This record gives sequence, C-alpha cells and structure tokens, in this order.
Amino acid sequence: MNYSEILKEIYAEVQPLLTQGQVADYIPELAHIPPTKFGMAILTSEGEQFQIGEASEKFSIQSISKLFTLTLAMRLEGDAIWQRIGREPSGTAFNSLVQLEYENGIPRNPFINAGALVVTDMILSHACPPGGLDNAHETVLDFLRKLAQNAEIGFDLDVARSERSTGYRNIALANFIKSFGNLRNEPDKVLDAYFHHCSIAMTCSDLARAGLFLANKGRLPWNDEEIIKPNQAKYIKSLMLTCGTYDSVGDFAYRVGLPGKSGVGGGILAVMPGEFSVCVWSPRLNENGNSLAGTKALELLTTLTGISVF
Ligand code: GLU
Repeated sequence: MNYSEILKEIYAEVQPLLTQGQVADYIPELAHIPPTKFGMAILTSEGEQFQIGEASEKFSIQSISKLFTLTLAMRLEGDAIWQRIGREPSGTAFNSLVQLEYENGIPRNPFINAGALVVTDMILSHACPPGGLDNAHETVLDFLRKLAQNAEIGFDLDVARSERSTGYRNIALANFIKSFGNLRNEPDKVLDAYFHHCSIAMTCSDLARAGLFLANKGRLPWNDEEIIKPNQAKYIKSLMLTCGTYDSVGDFAYRVGLPGKSGVGGGILAVMPGEFSVCVWSPRLNENGNSLAGTKALELLTTLTGISVF
C-alpha cells in the first residue's frame, strides 16, 4: 500500500478544516498551542513508517494516556479491574458527575475521566505500596518510553500544573469516587498522578509506535515481547471502538471504522489490527472534543485505502 501518496492526499484535503473547531482552553496551557498544526504518522506491523506535516512535533497526549494506563492496569490486575469499572459507553461527557451518583461510584468505562482515575488508583496501589517508594508517575512514563522506543519522552510540567490549578471537576470526581469507597489511595495522590499522565508530551510517530502492540495481538513487533495477552488486546480495542472517542463514539466508528482513542490535546491514536497503527494530531476540536481535522483525516485514510475493521 502506498501510504505516502495517501497521506499527501489527506494532507491536501484537510487544509480547509484547520481553521475550524476550537482548541481546548479549559486547561489554560493548552490554549497557547498554534491551532492550525496538523501531523499524521502511520507505522505498519512490518516496521514501515510514513508521516506528513508536524508528525515529529510533541503535543499533549491528554486522554490518549488512558489507553496506556488501562493496559498497565490490565497487566497488573487482569479481569479484577471490572469489579471497579464498567465497560459500556457512557453517553455523557467525559468529565460528567451525574452517572456516578446513581451507579454507586463505579465509572461506566476506563476511558472517561472517572474510569481513568480508578485505573490510576490501581496503578498507584502497585507502584507505591504503603511505606514503599513513590514512583507512580514514572511507572507510566517508563512504560510509554519502552513502547515508543524513545527515552526522551517526558511530562510537560507546565501542562500538569495548569490542569492541577483549574481541575475542579476532576477534583470533584476523585473525591466523589472516594466517598463510594472506589479509590484505595487519597484523592490528591490519584489526581497528581492522573494530571501527570495527561501531561505527557509525545509526537505522532511516538504514539503510532506506542500503539503498535495493539495492532499486533499484544506483542511488540520488533522483538516479539508480549505486552498483554491477545485476548486482552482484543478487549482494549473493543473498548476503544465503543468508548474511545467521547460521546460521539458512534459517529467516529461510523465514519472511521477503526478503534481509536482521542485526547483534548487534539491527538487521536487508532489501530488497524494486523496492519498498522496511526496517530493524527490537529489541536482544533469538534463539539464533542475530538480533533476535527484529525477525525476527517482518519475517515479519509480508511476510505482511500479501503482498509478498516469493517
Ligand atoms: N486531562 C484532561 C481532563 O481530565 C483529559 C481530557 C481528555 O483528553 O479527554 O480533563
């Protein structure tokens, strides 16, 4: 497949969209990003890499981190995670509080903020046992560095601080979940780790590489290392398809036809099992919080190649 030509075609087609949509500004630091950026990187299971635009520029991965924290939690706790989190689309905003009240503090799925806070709590319980070393931030960072094969990946501490100082809703969520007994650690500690995970800065090519194990039945294609079991890779991709792109997940699945996970930094990571992993970044978001040009780019990718999970 000649992905270079396809990327060029996509790049030309999305240009008029780069001035549409809004950059997420509820995290003040994200409002400073030049809004018309666009990058896209495809990495095939055979190791071929294709990219266009600003695919080597770092951006804030935000909720794409939820994909990797879920993977870590599955590695640590296996199916036990489903005693504390559901796996249904929420149909409400990613930071909604209402559902939690009548569902007794059990978040609908691991990709909304409430679910990611519980996932983070699980990782904390393993990474920082009582009296042990507190290395929760690094556990997730090291995992991403290994998956992306890039030791330079780090936190954007300005973004983490910015979100911390305005994260009233996430602070409310963490305390609310704690009140139902579904956090083992103190809300402050969970929030601190969560904000750091969201602040991680990566490029499109970093993220495409980091997601490739999902296209490859849970294994790193370059050394055959098992990151998760094949059935767990299936579970994660199913959750991406049903819960990964906010409450427009149906529209995303309809248009793109690939499991994906988006973030309010404007990134979307998607995978085509057995074929490739792809990451697109463009900061302006549609009304549901997904990158506007990024969603269109992925729709064009599956349309032009004729390759999708359907
Ligand atoms: N850090 C963001 C928040 O908690 C992540 C949101 C997102 O990317 O969905 O609001």
